[in-house]
Amino acid sequence: MSASASDSWFLRARAVIPGGVNSPSRSFKGIGGGTPVVMVRGQGAYLEDVDGQRYIDYQAAYGPLVLGHAHPAVTEAIRRQAGEGTLTGAPHPLEIMLAERLCNGIEGLSQVRLVSTGTEAVMSAVRIARAYTGRSRVVKFRGAYHGHSDAMLVDAGSGVGTVGITTPAGIPDGVERDVTGLPYNDIDAVLAFMERSGDTVAAILVEPVEGNMGLVEPGTDFLSGLAEIARAHGALLIFDEVITAFRFHYGAAGSLYGVTPDLYCLGKTIGGGLPQGAYGGRADVMATVAPLGPSYQAGTLAGNPLAAAAGLALLDVLSRENPYPEMERLGQLLHEGLIEQARRRGIPVALNRLGGMFTLFFTDGEVRDYDGALRSDAGRFARFYRALLAGGVYLAPSRLECWFVSAAHTQDEIARTLEVTEGAFAAI
Ligand SMILES: *Cc1c(COP(=O)(O)O)cnc(C)c1O
Repeated sequence: MSASASDSWFLRARAVIPGGVNSPSRSFKGIGGGTPVVMVRGQGAYLEDVDGQRYIDYQAAYGPLVLGHAHPAVTEAIRRQAGEGTLTGAPHPLEIMLAERLCNGIEGLSQVRLVSTGTEAVMSAVRIARAYTGRSRVVKFRGAYHGHSDAMLVDAGSGVGTVGITTPAGIPDGVERDVTGLPYNDIDAVLAFMERSGDTVAAILVEPVEGNMGLVEPGTDFLSGLAEIARAHGALLIFDEVITAFRFHYGAAGSLYGVTPDLYCLGKTIGGGLPQGAYGGRADVMATVAPLGPSYQAGTLAGNPLAAAAGLALLDVLSRENPYPEMERLGQLLHEGLIEQARRRGIPVALNRLGGMFTLFFTDGEVRDYDGALRSDAGRFARFYRALLAGGVYLAPSRLECWFVSAAHTQDEIARTLEVTEGAFAAI
C-alpha cells in the first residue's frame, strides 16, 4: 500500500506539533490510533482531503459550521472586511452590531462582552460570577466540556474523556478544590450538595443541552430545578451555550426549556467559522467587569471586525432563512434510518437527538449522563467510524461527540449517508 498524502503530511505534523494536532480531539486516539485525515477544503456539506477524497461532513468542525462550509454570504463578508482591515484596536461598528444582534436574539442577554474563544467566554463568566458573589466554588457536571482553562478541566468530558484523562496534569490543587463535578441530570445530587455547601458556591455552570458527552438532553425540570436551587442559595446560573445557541432555533437552547440563566457563554456557533466567543447576561452582573467594575477581562483580538463580520453574516442568514425545520427533518430521517439499520442487525444502540444534532451510542441502556455515555462500546464505534470514513462520511473521531446536520445538507446527502451506514453496520 503506497503512503497517502495524509500520511506524509501527518508525518511532517508529528515532527513539529505535539501528537501532530493543534487540538487533541483531532487525533485518532479515541478510535484506537492511526493517521487523521488531513483536510484541505470545505464546501457546503462536504470536506475534501489532501488525496482528493470527498466526504459528507457531520463534524461541522465540532459545531461552528451551522451553515456548512464556505457559505457564500459568510465568505463574501469576510472578503469584504479583510480589505478594510482586520483589527482596529478601537471600537468598531461591526462588533457593536454583533453585540446588538446577540442581545436581540437571546433571552435575558442585556450586556455582552466579545472574546475570541469559548474557553475565554467560560473562564471570564466564571471569574465575574466569583467577583459578583464574592464566593469561589463552581458547580459543574461531570463529562461536560467548558474549554481548557485550569478550573474547567476538572472532571471534563469531550476531548479530555476521549484521550482517557479525568483531570489533566498541571492543574493546581487549589484550583481543583474550588470545582465540584456532579452527575448531569441528577437534581437530587445538586440539591444535596447545595444544602451542604451552597453558601460557598459562586455559580452553577451547565451546558443546557449536553454536547460534549455526546448529546444528552436535560430531563424534565432539570434546568428549572437548577435555576431555583441557584437562586435559593445566592449562586448564579451560567448556561454554556457555545454549541447550542442558534443551533436548534434562532436563540438560546435554554429558551426551549423556558429557563433564562444569569449569564451565558457563547462561541462556536456565533463566529461563522472564525474565532469568536462572547459572555454576558444580567446587566448588574456584567457591570462587575472593568472598566465599569473591579473584575477584569480583556482581549487584543476581541471584537475584531473580521470575526464580527463573519458572525453577523451567519446570524443574518439564520434569521432570514430559518433553516431549522429542514435540519430537524433531515436529522429525523437519519435518526430513523440508523435505528432501523441497527435493529435489523441486532446491534444495540441509543440515539439521542435534538433537531439536526445527535449522537449514536453503541449501548443497550439509555444515556442520560456521563457514566451512561462512557458505557457505550468504544471498539464498535471505532470499527463503525473506519467503515464510514472509507465510505466517504466524516464524523468527529470519538464516541463522545455529536453528528451535526448543517443547513447545507440535503436529502441527497442523507440518502447517501444511509447507504454507507448500512454497509458499516454490516461490517461491525
Ligand atoms: C468547544 C466548547 C468550549 C470551548 O470553546 P473553544 O472555542 O474551543 O475554546 C466551551 N464550551 C463548550 C460547551 C464547548 O463545546
